[in-house]
Amino acid sequence: MSVNVAQLLARSAHVYPALPALARGGNVICTYAELAGRVSRLAAGLARRLSPNDRVALVMGNCPQYVELLFACWHAGLCAVPIHAKLHPKEFEYILDNSGARLCFVTAGLCGAIASLQASVARLEEVIDVDGPHYAALAAGAPMAMAPRQADDPAWLFYTSGTTGRPKGVTLTQRNVMASILNYFSDVDAIAPGDALIHGAPMSHGSGFYTLPHVAHAGLNVVPESGGFDPAEIYALLQAHRGVTMFAAPTMVKRLVDFPGDADTANLKTIVYGGGPMYVADCKAAMARFGYKLAQIYGQGESPMTITAMGKAIHADTAHPRYEQRLASVGHAFTGVEVMVADAGDKPLRAGEIGEILVRGDPVMLAYWDNPAASAETLRHGWLHTGDMGCLDEEGFLSLKDRSKDMIISGGSNIYPREVEEVLLRHPAVSEVSVVGQSDPEWGEVVIAFVVARGSQPEAADLDALCLDNIARFKRPKAYRYVEALPKNSTGKVLKTELRKLL
Ligand code: AMP
Repeated sequence: MSVNVAQLLARSAHVYPALPALARGGNVICTYAELAGRVSRLAAGLARRLSPNDRVALVMGNCPQYVELLFACWHAGLCAVPIHAKLHPKEFEYILDNSGARLCFVTAGLCGAIASLQASVARLEEVIDVDGPHYAALAAGAPMAMAPRQADDPAWLFYTSGTTGRPKGVTLTQRNVMASILNYFSDVDAIAPGDALIHGAPMSHGSGFYTLPHVAHAGLNVVPESGGFDPAEIYALLQAHRGVTMFAAPTMVKRLVDFPGDADTANLKTIVYGGGPMYVADCKAAMARFGYKLAQIYGQGESPMTITAMGKAIHADTAHPRYEQRLASVGHAFTGVEVMVADAGDKPLRAGEIGEILVRGDPVMLAYWDNPAASAETLRHGWLHTGDMGCLDEEGFLSLKDRSKDMIISGGSNIYPREVEEVLLRHPAVSEVSVVGQSDPEWGEVVIAFVVARGSQPEAADLDALCLDNIARFKRPKAYRYVEALPKNSTGKVLKTELRKLL
């Protein structure tokens, strides 16, 4: 038997019953006592319909009901399946079918799209609009006692963003989820009761995960009125709430920094960034605007938000002789999490040597959902094989190179796109850049840079000169392609496969 994650809410409701729990925009919707009450009634409504460990899909834009549904699922002994609301109907169909969800909760705009899938998804019994009367009725009955949970019971099925191929369902257990929450406190940040979390990023992913430590310490979950990420709205919300944390992909941090004006950010406590590379130039620009309020995490669905972290103190330690290298890294292994950089035979490599990043510890998934072949492949020898390449330094800082499939081999030498991208971003007229390999009869592959200009288009000769000043000659792009925008997936990751197709 282990502690049910839903216990975190019950505890906060006991210790801080009157503190605000949920807000939409600037308006508080309920206190912790009220939220816990609603959750136990909603759980009872779910338990009347479903059996322990059944999956409940959430195809919902960001909304306050996200928080109550996650906790109601756990309270009732069920497994939540949060699904990114901006996926394609075919992807919804695949995930609903693969997870075997019996109920699916949706927000207004998604009712039609999901309801029409009921015919093709055999096990899906009902689609419920969280703003409709049926939802209200579900939560109208008597409360239930919290269901007991085992450590390995599934709590959250997390579907990978699938930059290549079909998304895979990652089975995150009660143990995995609890470990990630405790790791937030050990290595990312402290949360005081009454601090706020603004959900500018999708609650189906990282932002939703950070709901959990905030509920554990009676923080206020704030859902922007727009339900999404709008820099003007975020700056306005910073005037309404205090002790504010946000989880933001690096592209979102950049949009906040580039947003004109000098809004007061005194209420901003922390921006946790991760999910994709944060370039040193962008990180410094963010600190120039917000102060030393940045913390980084590196994780993946398979070890949610929890592989390595770099806290605010390292971001602020500007006098350190290796400050730049540290900023370019993803920090240290989380407390209680082991990170190894290994060769193809899973043997540890020495500091400075590049290999695949392997991880083990309590946050690491139990398995992929209903996919023993992929589980055996990814979890072999007791380690999670992340598919990310990187190296450790003598001080234990992990630097990510690129995913093995993104590495470019030119004239027999390995080139990691990120290294080239870091250099090109130092040019003031470069807003965004992504580097890929193009096959070449002479070199095997050559480096091509896709550049989004800021204002006027930078001269290729200037970009070349910048590269020659900073990196080996063979890493210099052979061509620069200027584009309006980089193709990105629903969580903001640049789709290098799409760029390669353009070549
Ligand atoms: P997902 O499972 O969709 O969260 O994607 C996880 C992947 O995002 C990781 O395997 C990395 O390739 C990438 N990623 C996550 N965090 C970082 C970070 N801090 N810096 C660079 N890449 C990251």
